[in-house]
Amino acid sequence: MAPAKVVYDCVTCGACCTNPDENREIDYVDYVEIEVSDPILKKPDLVRRLVVLDDDLLPHMRLDRHQRCVALKGRLGRQVACSIYHDRPSGCRSFTAGSKRCKQYRRERGIDA
Ligand code: SF4
Ligand code: SF4
Repeated sequence: MAPAKVVYDCVTCGACCTNPDENREIDYVDYVEIEVSDPILKKPDLVRRLVVLDDDLLPHMRLDRHQRCVALKGRLGRQVACSIYHDRPSGCRSFTAGSKRCKQYRRERGIDA
């Protein structure tokens, strides 16, 4: 029997909203970069709750203890949502479902075998 076709459905995934293994291995947590022009930086409430600065004072999304972006809601691999979808950083907007990195991150989080 042919293997089931993988559907790269972001609302049942969320893998790229977590720190990938290559970063975890070197304790690198500044994963979700924020550009200075990204709209989230113009919203003080969101900045206070969700943004951290790295050693070079560049803004990133805060990660929780499971290394998930704190804006991600729901259960990984089941049902997820970005709680700041319209204000998400440009790096999140440009990440392509079905790309090589998408497939890698899904595998790392156990979403695909
Ligand atoms: S890893 Fe791929 S399928 Fe999963 S949320 Fe990111 S872009 Fe979507
Ligand atoms: S801001 Fe939203 S889309 Fe970007 S990593 Fe966080 S939860 Fe995912």
